[in-house]
Parts: sequence; structure tokens; C-alpha cells
Amino acid sequence: RAKESGRNTFALYKTEMQAVSDARLEMEKALHHATESKFFKLYYQPQTNDKNQLIGAEALIRWKDEQKGFISPAVFIPVAEEIGLIVEIGQWVLNESLSQVAIWLKEGKWDPSWRMSINVSPIQFQQAGFLPMLKEQLEKHEVPASCVDLEITENMLLNDLTSSLEKMHAIKRLGVHLSIDDFGTGYSSLKYLKSLPIDRLKIDQSFVRDLLTDKSDEAIVHAVIAMAQALNINVLAEGVETFVHYDRLREIGCFFYQGYYFGHPVPPEDFIAEFVHD
Ligand code: C2E
Ligand code: MG
Ligand code: MG
Ligand code: MG
Repeated sequence: RAKESGRNTFALYKTEMQAVSDARLEMEKALHHATESKFFKLYYQPQTNDKNQLIGAEALIRWKDEQKGFISPAVFIPVAEEIGLIVEIGQWVLNESLSQVAIWLKEGKWDPSWRMSINVSPIQFQQAGFLPMLKEQLEKHEVPASCVDLEITENMLLNDLTSSLEKMHAIKRLGVHLSIDDFGTGYSSLKYLKSLPIDRLKIDQSFVRDLLTDKSDEAIVHAVIAMAQALNINVLAEGVETFVHYDRLREIGCFFYQGYYFGHPVPPEDFIAEFVHD
């Protein structure tokens, strides 16, 4: 009897496992199709300073599957990284966001001092062709390099620090800005940080969320800001959802923000309508 139920448990387990891997295969197939057919769209979220002025936008990819509707990039980007599609997707993102900046610049809707923040996957960044591709895109769209900010993550530095550093310096020489995304969640040490040609740290939203209630999160945010000041790096807080969070951050000495309190990520038309005033 026990044997029987044991077998049934195993059978059930196997069925669940099968369902999981079927779903995964289905997603991979759909992702291939979406990449080929460019079923993606970019949304833009405002980034502001303490005077409530726009300083730029972050481009965030959206995928609308014909059957499943919107699928979160938090779900499909890791899959795209695993199967290597991220390189092609990342190239699409760069092309699309730069073409958008070019249009807005021509229309006088994009202030040349603003930055378009573009997420770059470690796998994309580590491609030998990344730098030439970036140059080519900047030239093709005639977008000043100073309008571009690439968001990379700390963990990228774990792999091959020397070649990553070289590439970062080359990017800086182009005039493109560099930010570290989700700062505080990865493995970068203070020693690295000193040697990195970084313009901005984006404090991860997990620290910002609990800033008002969790003393250790407040201490972390304090420490990050103090350290960044010493290293002459900007700090932008992610996930700023309420006035109270914004107010506290400003009090602590953080003057750049992104989050639902200032605006959600929206399609390009809405970005101009909602956030750009002349
Ligand atoms: P991320 O780069 O850290 O982007 C910030 C995420 O936080 C976005 O989620 C944004 O919609 C969300 N967010 C913004 N403000 C708030 C807020 O006030 N509260 C909360 N709870 N969330 C807020 P999204 O768009 O779902 O993207 C998730 C992640 O997917 C991104 O995190 C990034 O790691 C990745 N991703 C998105 N677009 C791209 C892309 O074009 N290329 C690559 N490689 N990764 C991307
Ligand atoms: Mg980002
Ligand atoms: Mg982030
Ligand atoms: Mg994130």
C-alpha cells in the first residue's frame, strides 16, 4: 500500500515536473518568435531630481504575448539570457530607445541634458561586438553619447573584471554614462567601486521600500550615499512610491529618484503627454 501511494506521489511529482518543463519550452518558443517578429515595445519611466525636474527616463521592455498577454521582463529576461536571445533583444532595445531619443530631440521634446537609461544584460555587455555595436548605433541615430546611460549590474564584474573594466573605460571615452543598477543586491566590494568609471548608483528598491520602518535599511541607504559622495558618484533611488519615501530620501541626501510616486513606465506617447511640459 505504502509502495502504491509512494508511486502515486512520484507520478504526481513527475506530472508537475513535466508541466513545468512544458511551460518553459513553450516560453522559449514564444520568445524566439517574439524576437524574430519584434513583438516588443519599450515603455519609459521618468527620472527626476529634488526640484521635481525631469532628468531622464529608463527604457523598460514590454512583451505582449498573443495568448498570455503581458509577460514581465523579470520573468522572460532571465530566460532570454539562458538561451542567448538576450543579445538580439538587447540590440533591439538599444536601437529602439536611441531611435526614440533621436525623434524627441528633433521634435524639441527631449532636453539634451536628459539621459536615456538603457538596461544592459551582463551577457550582452560581455559580447566582443558590444562596443562596436554601441558606436554604430550612436552614429546611425545621431544621438549625442551624453544622452545615453547604460545600466549594468554589480554581478557583471564577477566574471572578468579586467576586461569589463577596459570596456567600461572605452564606453566612458565615447561619452556614454554608466550606472550600476540594483545597487546593494550584488557582490561588488568597495574596493571595486573605487576603480570603476561609474557615474551613478541606483539604490535597489528593496532598500527604499522599507526605509521608513527598517533601521538597517535606513543605515544602508545612509552608507551608500556617504560612500558615493566620497567617490563623487550620483545616487538615484529606485522604487520611490510615496511622498514620505521621497521626503526621507531627500533628507538623507539622495537627490535623484525614480518610482511610481513620480510616474509609472508608460508608452512613448504618454511619456511626452504626462511628463514633458514646455
Ligand atoms: P530594473 O532595471 O531594476 O527596473 C526597475 C523595475 O522596477 C521596473 O520593472 C519598473 O517598472 C519597476 N518600478 C519602477 N518604479 C517602481 C516603484 O515605485 N515600485 C515598484 N514596486 N516597482 C517599480 P520592470 O519594468 O518589470 O522590469 C523588471 C526588470 O527587468 C528590470 O529591473 C530589469 O532588470 C529587467 N529589464 C527590463 N527591461 C529590460 C531591458 O530592456 N533589457 C534588459 N536586459 N533587462 C530589462
Ligand atoms: Mg534598470
Ligand atoms: Mg533596478
Ligand atoms: Mg531590478
